[in-house]
Amino acid sequence: MVSGSNLLEAEALRRLPSVDRLLRHEMVAALIGQHGRTEVTRGVRVVLAEVRATLAAGGRAPHTDDNVLACAVAAHLDAAAQTHLRRVFNLTGTVLHTNLGRAPLPDAAIEALVMAAREPCNIEFDLEHGARGDRDDLVEDLLCRLTGAQAATVVNNNAAAVFLILNTLAGGREAVVSRGELIEIGGAFRIPDIMARAGCRMVEVGATNRTHERDYAAACGPDTALLMKVHTSNYVVEGFTASVSNAGVARIAHAHGLPCVVDLGSGTLTDLARYGLPHEPLPQEALADGADIVCFSGDKLLGGPQAGLIVGREDLIAQIKQNPLKRCLRVGKLTLAALEPVLRLYLDTDRLAERLPALRQLTRPESEIAALAQRLLPALEKALGSAWKLDVIPMKSQIGSGSLPVDRLPSAGFALRAATRRSGGALERLAAAWRALPVPVLGRIANDALLFDLRCLDDEAAFLAQLNRLDLDAG
Ligand SMILES: *Cc1c(COP(=O)(O)O)cnc(C)c1O
Repeated sequence: MVSGSNLLEAEALRRLPSVDRLLRHEMVAALIGQHGRTEVTRGVRVVLAEVRATLAAGGRAPHTDDNVLACAVAAHLDAAAQTHLRRVFNLTGTVLHTNLGRAPLPDAAIEALVMAAREPCNIEFDLEHGARGDRDDLVEDLLCRLTGAQAATVVNNNAAAVFLILNTLAGGREAVVSRGELIEIGGAFRIPDIMARAGCRMVEVGATNRTHERDYAAACGPDTALLMKVHTSNYVVEGFTASVSNAGVARIAHAHGLPCVVDLGSGTLTDLARYGLPHEPLPQEALADGADIVCFSGDKLLGGPQAGLIVGREDLIAQIKQNPLKRCLRVGKLTLAALEPVLRLYLDTDRLAERLPALRQLTRPESEIAALAQRLLPALEKALGSAWKLDVIPMKSQIGSGSLPVDRLPSAGFALRAATRRSGGALERLAAAWRALPVPVLGRIANDALLFDLRCLDDEAAFLAQLNRLDLDAG
């Protein structure tokens, strides 16, 4: 027996326009100029298929009027045309957030990046001699000046730097490292795995909590290629502990005629203690302590583009550059374009905190952030309505990107809590509503509240401009 609603569906299906008819609709035809015929045809098919599927499943008959369908096609195409990579507001409280692209670049770097993207440039061309050049030359002098190294080279990221160093200097031989430094960095970067893939045999020395000079010395044999120190960026071993300094490891390495390699992880080029931040070991310190090769990231505390910077002894850097894998791991012109101006900022450390956005955000005073929170409060209260309780609270931001995962930077922001008891998942739905904004707003959920740390909010106007689009009923 055919029910009444089935009849309605059959009727609705029958009246559904054909693809061609909908393509001829005035509004749809106008979309072709913007999205192209192929994409619009695809959009029409998708929308019609969705309506048919809903009807066939016995769902409530959606509007099948041509004008309504045309609007659906326009909305579908707009959504499909949005790039997957989007700007977001990072209110997570982690400044150098690996999942959100780490360091924001300074204007000088962005301008150079755009120039290199738009125009031909001398990425590998020696303008003085009119001959082929070496892309590392663009930044090698600067890196040497800033770190005191004899030579330098640049690869895709610090993970690549560690890999390339090990493969070049210790491939087929032994690399000695302390058991207390077999780190895992977010993702799949683990020292033992990188050693294995780089083709060297890892020789672990010492114990998890204690490693002594005699442990390194005892490990040096005929097959030893190098001694390695790894900065334990993201954890601390506390209590009954001992480790050997870079200087100590370098001394033992040299006594055995071996190079000492230091993976600094974050690394930056100036002492952050002068800006009130925790001291992070510097490549120039490691080199002065006797390290022969030091590597560090371009987009952690340095505040530049993703890159792995390798500095140190000229003969070893030359070997590293001759490794065919260097060609696989090299950086592109966009990276080098952005890196050079960032390095130049370090020539004037007096103005670094104003000019380098990463450092500016890390050193932003709590009072300034709290004042921003007060300014935004009325607009936020209005957008949230009565269902959510909004408080300005002090909080602590994290540096991020392999710095110690401890809250250490006094900051301020909002805590959003349900005004009344809510079903489980209400906070997640609230967070999802903020993520659904044109510029998604990302906070973090802790202690039954959605927290927005305002340390990294620079564009107040853009944040306010989209508050009226917050849809708390969606989802
Ligand atoms: C972060 C880190 C790496 C990896 O650096 P990327 O630039 O993320 O590739 C390697 N070693 C240490 C000690 C680190 O902290």
